[in-house]
Amino acid sequence: MPKIYINRNICKECRICIEFCPVKILRISDETNKLGYHPAVVTDESRCILCYLCERYCPEFAIVVKK
Ligand code: SF4
Ligand code: SF4
Repeated sequence: MPKIYINRNICKECRICIEFCPVKILRISDETNKLGYHPAVVTDESRCILCYLCERYCPEFAIVVKK
């Protein structure tokens, strides 16, 4: 099963990962991180198709995807 690790403390809520994810399993959370942003979270990892777009395009390098 794919694992998507998002470093909540460095996410700046730009939503790029959300826009690029082809299966729309990323969303903005309700929590606030140390920087004052609402970090992205994964809703259903089992639906990830391992395209790595979120990891590649996150400008903060906050996402790591593993098989
Ligand atoms: S690897 Fe692709 S499918 Fe999986 S969460 Fe990232 S953008 Fe979505
Ligand atoms: S692309 Fe990176 S910084 Fe932007 S919302 Fe997603 S995890 Fe946060």
